[in-house]
Amino acid sequence: MTASVQPELLTSFDPATGKALTTYRVDDEDAVRAAVATARAAAAMWSELSFAARRKHLLRWSSLLVAKSAELCDLIHIETGKPRGDAFLELLLALEHTAWAAKNAARVLRPRSVRTGALMANFSAAVEQRPLGVVGVIGPWNYPLYTPNGSIAYALAAGNTVVFKPSEHTTGVGNLLAATFAQANPELPEGIFTTVNGYGATGAALVASGVDKIAFTGSTATGKRIMAAAADTLTPVLLECGGKDAVIIAADADLPAAADAVAFGATSNSGQTCIGVERVYVLRPVAEQFLAELTAVLADVRPGIGAAAAYGPMTLPGQLAVVRRHVEDALAHGGTLVLGGPESIKPPYVEPVVLVDVDESSAAVCEETFGPIITVRTVDSIDEAVRLANNSGYGLGSAVFSRRHGRAIARRLRVGATSVNSVAGFAAIPALPFGGVGDSGIGRIHGDAGLLEFSRAHSIAVQRFSLPGAELLSYRRSERTLRLLSTVVRLVHGRR
Ligand code: NAD
Repeated sequence: MTASVQPELLTSFDPATGKALTTYRVDDEDAVRAAVATARAAAAMWSELSFAARRKHLLRWSSLLVAKSAELCDLIHIETGKPRGDAFLELLLALEHTAWAAKNAARVLRPRSVRTGALMANFSAAVEQRPLGVVGVIGPWNYPLYTPNGSIAYALAAGNTVVFKPSEHTTGVGNLLAATFAQANPELPEGIFTTVNGYGATGAALVASGVDKIAFTGSTATGKRIMAAAADTLTPVLLECGGKDAVIIAADADLPAAADAVAFGATSNSGQTCIGVERVYVLRPVAEQFLAELTAVLADVRPGIGAAAAYGPMTLPGQLAVVRRHVEDALAHGGTLVLGGPESIKPPYVEPVVLVDVDESSAAVCEETFGPIITVRTVDSIDEAVRLANNSGYGLGSAVFSRRHGRAIARRLRVGATSVNSVAGFAAIPALPFGGVGDSGIGRIHGDAGLLEFSRAHSIAVQRFSLPGAELLSYRRSERTLRLLSTVVRLVHGRR
């Protein structure tokens, strides 16, 4: 069972058992507006703090999250179904990102002088990055801590306050995050980081509430709706949407390492990962051995809820039908099974499925599956692998396995990030920006770019002294100045 709609109430469910967990009040438009007003009032104070002060508050929050890690990981486990170890990995990565954002905000966002050029030599010039104000964050359920935190921590470090609408499936995790921030920083006013709860309508109310930016992570379909709605108020959007990540296995790849990484990248979190491996393109000379290695690794990978389980149930029951459709469509379009099949779908679990040489136009190759399903196609050249990998509306993550040509192949991929000889490595390095192209979204979280996303450039040009008779931006500008400038322009710009 999943979250059920009741008037003004939202109930979360344990995906493994279908048992109801907690019921929350749904925040309507008025409640969202009130939360944003409180956040706006708090923004005045929070934006005035020094970077060092904000860093202290963020790191205190992290310390409390560490102290409460058992409670937090239990909640992630019970709301999403993922193993506690995976929940802990999410926490670890979120802590790394929060520390990086807190420690690097001063360097990235400090005012900096820029050259004026000879034409404006009587000026000095500087760019100052200012906070936007209130950032509305809308999150998904698959990584309910790590994913929204990529916006929340960076927006806070950049001096904004945050109103967060967690996924209706992971409301508890979202609320615990905001509660721990307040608990770790009792001297701060209310409204620095708060949550509003509910379904899509609550998210839509946040988009329309007059926040200064929406940072959304979720499906491409919802991202498009949010962008259209945000156009009404010209609210800027950061959209982290879906993916259909490809992996290229070159002839000189370390095949056992590639198989191990692909197995993990495709099936961990039940394949419900935006940067999960969904397509593999392997060079013909190594295809057979790679498939043998991959199926050998996956033979021991089993879903379940106990400590021995590699991954948990599908978080949303509706996703089982998507997975079934993709497997059946792949088989109907020439695909061959080398591991599992339709019988691998055992609600609420899906065991790993490996399909080879599926038609490139089938749903399993073109649409985001969000399940532990891998399609593997044998190709005759790296050119063919790159062409097929790039033949997708999505462009989020990717991976390349090659001992000698990894970087060169990576550079040819139309994506936001590539891991060479690993999967998803870029997501664990806080200094690397994260985001996609095409249907995978707009903008970047993480890294310098992720801090800049939550600030606006304010350019300041200061005239240090005037140049009587040689002013450009004045009616006192003389004919002599223009004649002189026309000679200079020919010399500087007209000689090539
Ligand atoms: P979803 O689009 O169904 O929901 C995401 C959030 O949007 C939820 O909080 C939901 O309540 C809210 N929402 C729904 N309709 C809305 C509306 N009209 N206005 C405002 N908010 C609305 O996505 P999901 O199922 O929660 O998450 C899975 C998707 O997220 C997958 O496609 C996955 O690839 C993607 N994802 C992307 C990244 C990334 O970084 N690119 C990370 C994690 C997940």
